[in-house]
Amino acid sequence: MKAARAAIEPAAGGEVAVVMTMGALHEGHATLIRTARERAEQVIVTIFLNPLQFGPKEDLSRYPRTFDADLALCRRQGVDLVFAPTPDVVYPDGDPGVRVSAGPLGDVLEGASRPGHFDGVLTVVAKLMHLTGGTAFYFGQKDAQQLLLIRRMVRDLDFPVRVVSVPTVREDDGLAMSSRNTYLSEADREVALCLSRALAAGAAAAAEGPSAVRRAARAVLVAEPLALVDYLVLVHPTTLKDVPEWYSGEALLAVAAKVGTTRLIDNRPMLLGPGGGPLEVFDGTGA
Ligand code: AMP
Repeated sequence: MKAARAAIEPAAGGEVAVVMTMGALHEGHATLIRTARERAEQVIVTIFLNPLQFGPKEDLSRYPRTFDADLALCRRQGVDLVFAPTPDVVYPDGDPGVRVSAGPLGDVLEGASRPGHFDGVLTVVAKLMHLTGGTAFYFGQKDAQQLLLIRRMVRDLDFPVRVVSVPTVREDDGLAMSSRNTYLSEADREVALCLSRALAAGAAAAAEGPSAVRRAARAVLVAEPLALVDYLVLVHPTTLKDVPEWYSGEALLAVAAKVGTTRLIDNRPMLLGPGGGPLEVFDGTGA
């Protein structure tokens, strides 16, 4: 395995799969890498803590950094190349004046609490798509809004690449894996379980329709006052608008909450209406 800190020489032929990360790698990242490894000629992992996507009061300075362990995980997963640039390689002229704008879909849910976050995400994703020369890019369903916006950027701006989504990887007790879970105390971690439990309760009611899903999920969160809920929404997977009561088809139940000092997000794709139930990922039609 090679490690690079500057732009990568284009590979000769075959699919070049890229998994973008901010480091502090865990089994969720490893699953993305393994999925890419099964399908691609060459697998590149990027490790870059992108300052552009963090707000002034967010956790950039305390974000976990575990570079040596990250390299070891990449080596174990058969990664060909790790691209771990410093900010001055990605942004040689300082903060870029020209950025990708996420548009209205970037202003809701995570974007409402984190203004400018998705412009920062899309700008670095666009740059890393160019710098790596990848042909297929693997992202986690865990960050559903990010995944949707990346798909939109690729389509709206005609990036000649494929975007592949990978289902959320969870701990045995249901907690969605996240680098930020290391911030949680033991007590916080117990509280944090209410997110995945709320989503599971909602998904179990999918066949009964939107109000039943919302009611079931809300009941779990209300029973855990130590989780400060930012939002709990049941939305259409491509418009992120609340689905109306009569709706049946694919939907996303998404939650964000603060537990202790840590902001956590999670989501569950599902099929609403008769015969409905939880989905792993969407079939892409948004129907
Ligand atoms: P991050 O390092 O948190 O920016 O995540 C890098 C990539 O890994 C993104 O595509 C995430 O959606 C994905 N990812 C993070 N956690 C998980 C998880 N628990 N399951 C699946 N994918 C994940």
